[in-house]
Amino acid sequence: MRFSTRAIHVGQEADPTTGATIVPIYQTSTYTQEAVGRHKGFDYSRTVNPTRVALERQLAALENAEYGSAFGSGMAATSAVLNLLSAGDHVVASDDMYGGTYRLFSRVLSRYAIDFTYIDLSDSDELRAALRPQTRLVWLETPTNPLLKIVDIAAVRAAAPRSALIAVDNTFATPYFQQPLALGADIVVHSTTKYIGGHSDAVGGIAITNDAAVHEQIKFHQNSVGGVPGPFDAWLVMRGAKTLALRMQQHERNALAVAQYLEKHPKVERVSYPGLPAHPQHVLAKRQMRGFGGIVSFTLRVPEERAMAFAAGLRYFSLAESLGGVESLICHPARMTHASMPKEDRERRGVTDGLLRLSVGIEDIEDLLEDLQAALDRF
Ligand SMILES: *Cc1c(COP(=O)(O)O)cnc(C)c1O
Repeated sequence: MRFSTRAIHVGQEADPTTGATIVPIYQTSTYTQEAVGRHKGFDYSRTVNPTRVALERQLAALENAEYGSAFGSGMAATSAVLNLLSAGDHVVASDDMYGGTYRLFSRVLSRYAIDFTYIDLSDSDELRAALRPQTRLVWLETPTNPLLKIVDIAAVRAAAPRSALIAVDNTFATPYFQQPLALGADIVVHSTTKYIGGHSDAVGGIAITNDAAVHEQIKFHQNSVGGVPGPFDAWLVMRGAKTLALRMQQHERNALAVAQYLEKHPKVERVSYPGLPAHPQHVLAKRQMRGFGGIVSFTLRVPEERAMAFAAGLRYFSLAESLGGVESLICHPARMTHASMPKEDRERRGVTDGLLRLSVGIEDIEDLLEDLQAALDRF
């Protein structure tokens, strides 16, 4: 089965009791048993729910994987993966990542005697130098948020010892453009709130793996801690995922056109998009990914206040956190998605006050370009 066929068919068999073609929203917390302990495999919805199971099977299939565990948010999925660790363990993480992940690592998990080292993971020498005998996990995003740096997943696998798991937050690329497990990663995490759900109407996350032992631990955590999605949210994400391929194709076409437009504009200082030949890791991106995604970052040649005014003055790009929906969004990372990161950490990572990030939607490209042009003309 190929990608879109899997998106539409895996986990989506007709309902066994009614024949409903679409998986129903099993909005139930519990299940009636015929006799004590005699039931159809479902006993309580924190533990297992048929709508959630359908979503888990569908999304695991998109990463060509055996196992998926769905969560109530991307952060809950990330937290579940970090719960594979114990006190005394060490994690190497990328120095350019989602602000909420950095907050979880630096302000929550570091209190549980887990040690983190943040490095530029695109440099294998830096990775080798950061490794310790206690290193149990390498955590990375690629493309990174918000600077769209590319990390070579296969090179990280080659440099890290077998005793360290490699987890990739694949939210930006989606399984349509990048398959980390095939490149040597052990675990893939998604915020399904973003492209997989795709319509900015549900919050969710998933952790996917081919390793049965890792899966068993994540499942145990999912049930023990209970950060599960409700049946309706699971259903919305599942519906969105069926059109992932179509949407990603259009996101990418539009993002490339926007990046090319901004690259030539005299008021724009710098554009980051892995699909531009000028991107320093364009060749690696081409090798590792099937496409470059829908996020474009750029810096305006204006002071911070005017960059923020620009962000608020567009017609079709809503000023909002998040990304990956059908509608275009603009965000000012320093004041929005990365506000939880101390200013000096932020600036060291290149998240400066003039940086803007676009989540290019699937509207007609002419409208998006006219919108950007009108706003740039005003400056
Ligand atoms: C949004 C996001 C998260 C967190 O996901 P939530 O669903 O908001 O909890 C993690 N990683 C990346 C790359 C994200 O964009």
